[in-house]
Amino acid sequence: MTSKTSASLLQLSWRSFRLSASRAPCSRFPTTAVSSHLPHSLTCKRSISSHVKVRSYLQYMKRKVRPPPSPPYTHVCQVGDPVLRSHAAPVDPAAVTGPEVQHVIKNMVKVMRKLECVGLSAPQVGVPLRILALEYPKEMLEESSPAVREARGISVQPLRIFINPQLRVMDGRTVQFQEACESISGFSATVPRYLSVEVSGLNESGEAVSWQASGWAARIVQHEMDHLDGILYIDRMDSQTFININWQAYNE
Ligand SMILES: [Zn+2]
Repeated sequence: MTSKTSASLLQLSWRSFRLSASRAPCSRFPTTAVSSHLPHSLTCKRSISSHVKVRSYLQYMKRKVRPPPSPPYTHVCQVGDPVLRSHAAPVDPAAVTGPEVQHVIKNMVKVMRKLECVGLSAPQVGVPLRILALEYPKEMLEESSPAVREARGISVQPLRIFINPQLRVMDGRTVQFQEACESISGFSATVPRYLSVEVSGLNESGEAVSWQASGWAARIVQHEMDHLDGILYIDRMDSQTFININWQAYNE
């Protein structure tokens, strides 16, 4: 997969795609000496266990210096975390402009931009509230070819925040494209999504807003809305298209 097509994948940073070729876990260790007499699966286990060991020690040292982080996280929770399967709670409209909700929103935007993804939901930063953020910056758009942009209906989108969003399908036809999620890091699959939807809710100032999204923006909205109900793209994907985005690197 080229970086051009990856640029339009949901929530997946281009950086992880670009670096993917050198990030295969099993290629980090010199396996040539052992692979001739050990099954490949065993060499993988060896390298994985070494990796875990090193990480645990680093974690141990880190925790000695500072306590574990608490939500909203500056990282994205990974599949398996119960928060990603919970039904997020509505935000009290009176609390939208309060410091706690504002802190969550600011943190979401920061994480979304740091990871160069185009949408994020509050549960992904460990907060089970019905808040989502979307943004498709110009720089990201320029990473994709005009043909990809047209086929997928990709366009620049300013930052939008929706609190307690409601979704209405405006065009019930579905379209299939490859999609990914920062919470299922390293994987991707084809997912059917409606062509056009309307999302309404409150913005970050507590004002009622409504937006009709089509093309790729509609896909982002549907993906993020699902997160608020504990649904991940793997629940909707065509499972035959599910891939490890680094699969080619494993053969190199
Ligand atoms: Zn996601």
